Formats: sequence, structure tokens, C-alpha cells
Amino acid sequence: MIPFNKPFYTGKEIEYISQSLDLKKLSGDGDFTKKCSDWIVRNITTKKSLLTPSCTAALEMSAILTDIQPGDEIIMPSYTFVSTALAFSMRGATPVFVDIREDTLNIDETLIEEAISKKTKAIVAVHYAGMPCEMDRILSIANTHNLLVIEDAAHGILSRYKNRQLGSIGDLGCFSFHDTKNIICGEGGAILINNSKFFDRAEIIREKGTNRKQFIDGNVDKYTWVDNGSSFLPGEITAAFLLAQLENAIDITSKRLEIWDQYHHSLDDLENQDFIRRPIVPKDCQHNAHMYYILLKNNKVRSDFIHFMKERGISCVFHYIPLHSSPYGEKLSKIKGSLEITDRISSNLVRLPLWPDLGTDVNLVIEGVHDFFKNK
Ligand SMILES: *Cc1c(COP(=O)(O)O)cnc(C)c1O
Repeated sequence: MIPFNKPFYTGKEIEYISQSLDLKKLSGDGDFTKKCSDWIVRNITTKKSLLTPSCTAALEMSAILTDIQPGDEIIMPSYTFVSTALAFSMRGATPVFVDIREDTLNIDETLIEEAISKKTKAIVAVHYAGMPCEMDRILSIANTHNLLVIEDAAHGILSRYKNRQLGSIGDLGCFSFHDTKNIICGEGGAILINNSKFFDRAEIIREKGTNRKQFIDGNVDKYTWVDNGSSFLPGEITAAFLLAQLENAIDITSKRLEIWDQYHHSLDDLENQDFIRRPIVPKDCQHNAHMYYILLKNNKVRSDFIHFMKERGISCVFHYIPLHSSPYGEKLSKIKGSLEITDRISSNLVRLPLWPDLGTDVNLVIEGVHDFFKNK
């Protein structure tokens, strides 16, 4: 069986975890957490980064920093993971969904302005499959209307938009290190604080609403409850694992890119025959091979395809059920305009297996895809 995803280990994880045990400090914000944050600041070129227990937690921190009040609106795509909306809806905000672009499957920036109301607080840009959103336009809309921009860069580590790293472009950026993402530590994430006005408050929110960080830094003589917050620190064992991954992140990404490119070149003929559509990389962008998907003609073809591949022992999977058609999303959210592309893409998209060690098995997948379309 060729699974859809397989966590990749660099080999250094166990050594770093063992070092972290020797240090006798297992709670958060020790040496390994600091090294991970420093790596992110240096390599993603942001001003400040804090590790979190997940990308969901990083998005929740973003919602608290956005100062959501019940009834506020957040503009985002419906074609995303539940956490993008949940982090805000939990604090009483209404997700406002707009359609996605046909080429990148990212939020259609030309539809954002129509969706803005007096209640709008922020735009969440989800970089689907690590393909960058049209950030210049999104930033300029946000600037005109005095809105915050939050990047859900769960898929986006080491992708670049016009030479800027994803996650470093909006006011806030959120990474995921879940097993299914490029760089992993089981469950984990990071918030990137690109707007310096949030520096101090982010530290407080992350430390259960206390000014513990100021106390540790010697700026106050005791620490106490000063704001909202929660427990947003991962432990050191997790950070130790993550450091091994981050130090190899460029290598991991290039391994993924090699496989992505193999898929892309080998499936070219099927696109020419109009059986499939392959991913489109926007101009001036460099992606991180988070995902290789193909778009099929309709939902029936997709079901047949998934079944056909499964019979061959190859696991291919579909992706998001749009949030506007989920039971809770239907109840809570608002839709602006038609979500025709969202509905169509989500029912026709299928993801092919992709992980750094896939090796020559990639050829079995490519062969399977071709065989499915033979005599069609
Ligand atoms: C995976 C994912 C998340 C959530 O990440 P966790 O680290 O599992 O909380 C959020 N947004 C998107 C787009 C994702 O794919």
C-alpha cells in the first residue's frame, strides 16, 4: 500500500529529545523553543515568532490580538480547514466567505472589497497547497479599509511570494507543524508577529494573560494577571523534535519539490488531452511542494479515480468540504456572492501521495493515473 502521507524523520530528532531530557526543563520556552523561534525569525525573516501547540492555537491567538467582539466579521475563503473559521467564530465573530480563484484555489482578492462591511475586522489569507495568495492586492485593500491581514500559512512554510516568505507578509502569520504538513512535530505551530504593535500583547496572551515574560526579562518585579489569554506554549520535547526538522527544512522541501516536479512533468500529457488540470504556480512565486493535486472533470470521475487507485494499493484523497456547507458553518457564517468555484473545485479535486521518501513509488502512482484514463 502506498499511503497518502508518511511522517518524515531527519534522524536528529531523538538526539535533540534526549538533550532536552538532560536539561531537566520540560515545560515551554526553554532552549529548544528559543532555537526554533530564532530559526523562524532568521529564515522566514519576521520580527518575532512564538511557538504554539498548533496552527489552530496560533489562529486563536490571532483572534484575541484582533480584539474580536461578538458580531465582528472576518473575510476568508470557505475552501479551507475548519480552524481558519473556528478560531474567530469561537470568539463571536462571523466568518464571511468569498469565492476562490480558479487558478490557485486561493481567496479571490477581487471579491474582497464587496464583502467588507462596517463590522469587518480582518482578512484571512489561506495559502492553499503552499501557493501564495495575491498578497499585494490583499494588503492594499486592508490598508484602505483599516483591516488586519492574517495569513493562514499552515501549508506555506518556505513558499515565497515575490521573494517574501509566506507567513511574514500579513500583520500575523500562522504555521502548522502537524504530521500532515511539510515540517512536523506531531502537533505544533507558530505565530509570526510581523506587526510590532502586537509584540508585548502576544507574549501576555500566550502566558495565560499574565506578564510573566516581562517578569522573566526583569522588567517588572512580580508577575500577575493583566489580560485575556490561554496556555499557548508547547513543551520542550516537542520543540526539540521540531528543531531537528527546521534545521533540515530546506532539504525536506527540496525532496518534496523533486516529487512534485515528477508528477507535474509526467501528467502533462493528461492535461493536454483535457482529462485533468494540474496545479498552477502564480507568477513571481516559489511554492514548497506541500501538495500535488489534480482536478478531474466531475465528482463521479473523482470517486471512480479514488476507487481505481485504492484497488492498486495507492491512497489518493479528496480535501476540504467547504465550510459554508458544513452543519456548523451553515449556521454561523455569511456568504458573499456565489461560491461556484469553491463548490466545483472541492468536489473535483484529488490529492496524490507526496512525502519526502516516496522515492520511485512515485512512478507507480503516475502509472496508475495514466492507466485510469486509458481508453477513456
Ligand atoms: C492543518 C491546517 C490548520 C490547522 O493546523 P493544526 O496545526 O492542526 O491546528 C489550519 N489551517 C489550514 C489551512 C490547515 O491546513
